[in-house]
Amino acid sequence: MESKCLLLIYLLVLQSLALLCASQDFDFFYFVQQWPGAYCDSDKNSCCYPTTGKPAADFSIHGLWPNYNDGSYPQNCDSNNPFDASKISDLISNMRKNWPSLSCPSNDGESFWSHEWEKHGTCSESVFDQHSYFETTLGLKQQANLLRALKAAGIEPDGSSYSLENIKDAIKEGSGYTPWIECNEDSSGNSQLYQVYLCLDKSGSNLIECPVFPKGKRCGSEIEFPNF
Ligand code: 5GP
Ligand code: 5GP
Repeated sequence: MESKCLLLIYLLVLQSLALLCASQDFDFFYFVQQWPGAYCDSDKNSCCYPTTGKPAADFSIHGLWPNYNDGSYPQNCDSNNPFDASKISDLISNMRKNWPSLSCPSNDGESFWSHEWEKHGTCSESVFDQHSYFETTLGLKQQANLLRALKAAGIEPDGSSYSLENIKDAIKEGSGYTPWIECNEDSSGNSQLYQVYLCLDKSGSNLIECPVFPKGKRCGSEIEFPNF
């Protein structure tokens, strides 16, 4: 009898530990937007406009990525919950506008959304289902409004170069938070504004100052803001 009790207690402790771990499955999110002009102008990518036509000259969403405070991150967390476009049918026109795919061949974005959900979204199932994952991310883009923040500081996608510090300050002024800027190189080797990272708390509700910035993605002190 006593040993059965002990076994039961042991199992209960294990179960509580498992629950505790499951609820601490990441520490924060990166919300990542890309400048399409830099994606298309990079020395590595060629780009193809979506089947629905050339997107607006605006930042577009790359993804919402669960991350750990030590800089590492979980990925592909649940193969039993594959991307299902029918779950976000009410969001599709907004997704086409704000989360287009510029990869080749020309496509309607679904394979990009599927990749983002399966690699990153499935690791945030403690907070989001598919619908709320995409809906929240779309909402963040409106909230952060990077292009408006940059233009307000006289920083325009006109192919000229701007100081990295001025770019960061303008985004901080507009969004309230310090961004991480990732650059890539254009075909002539110039450093250009490619992606902007902001951070979201692990409950998925509030922008926060990033606990840690991505490693090894530094820009020059003056960077090009290419046309699109
Ligand atoms: P890259 O090596 O091109 O920067 O990133 C390739 C992919 O790895 C990204 O699109 C993203 O899916 C993932 N990734 C890169 N860096 C990070 C990071 O710091 N956090 C998370 N969560 N994912 C990342
Ligand atoms: P991550 O880098 O998040 O793992 O995912 C990027 C993947 O999505 C790559 O396989 C890339 O080819 C694909 N992809 C499709 N469209 C886009 C796009 O517009 N931008 C970026 N960065 N990747 C895209």
